[in-house]
Amino acid sequence: KQLRKAVIAGNWKMNKTPAEAKELIAAIAPLVKDATVDVVACTPFVDLSAAQEAAEGTNLQIGAENCHWAKSGAFTGEVSAEMLSAMGVKIVIIGHSERRQYFGETDVTVHDRTRAALDAGLTVILCVGETLEQREQGITNELCAMQTKIALGGVSEEELKRIIIAYEPVWAIGTGKTATAEQANEVCAAIRETVKELYGCAAGDGITLQYGGSMNAGNAAELLAQPDVDGGLIGGASLKPQDFAAIVEAAT
Ligand code: PEP
Repeated sequence: KQLRKAVIAGNWKMNKTPAEAKELIAAIAPLVKDATVDVVACTPFVDLSAAQEAAEGTNLQIGAENCHWAKSGAFTGEVSAEMLSAMGVKIVIIGHSERRQYFGETDVTVHDRTRAALDAGLTVILCVGETLEQREQGITNELCAMQTKIALGGVSEEELKRIIIAYEPVWAIGTGKTATAEQANEVCAAIRETVKELYGCAAGDGITLQYGGSMNAGNAAELLAQPDVDGGLIGGASLKPQDFAAIVEAAT
């Protein structure tokens, strides 16, 4: 675990105007300046420039929340990985459960978007996770393994170094219900096994796995202490500078 890169990433979702984004980055940056882990804030597309400007000279990295699978073309309302890369964005969330739930994202489109992001030189935070119904059916580990396999189809071992996988149980996102540390670790361990099956032991041991789902200042330390949990993807708490900084501190 010590050999893996710990990454705490905020997912701002559809929150903050550019002016507010500047303020929020300015509030977070001094609180995380001594972090020994990677700290990322993924913002809405329209906030990226403002956030980048506010983060200049700090250790805070700015990422996006999605990208399209094509380089350009007739896809009204979409943004390509090339466009993100051209503006200096280095990291993007793909396959968030809200995209899967509300915007028709499938394992196949998650794969295609991941492919495009890698081709554009970006690092991907790839989200997988089960619904409550799927958990109750006892298929969580198999489902997360399958989502992982489909997304990573054709991804080379070299490219895998730019993949972070976030295990986000859908029932825990924005609900205040957190997976227990044991549940989070069990599924992360299963995802790591899947990566080992696909790429070998060293690659599996090297990949950074995050937990996401109502992680907050109070529960972060226990979740992040788990052997297979290397970081967190943080929604609600990433909008609160003190709380986000406390989670970064817990990962340090
Ligand atoms: C998320 O959106 O990735 C997330 C984990 O949200 P929250 O922390 O609000 O549950």
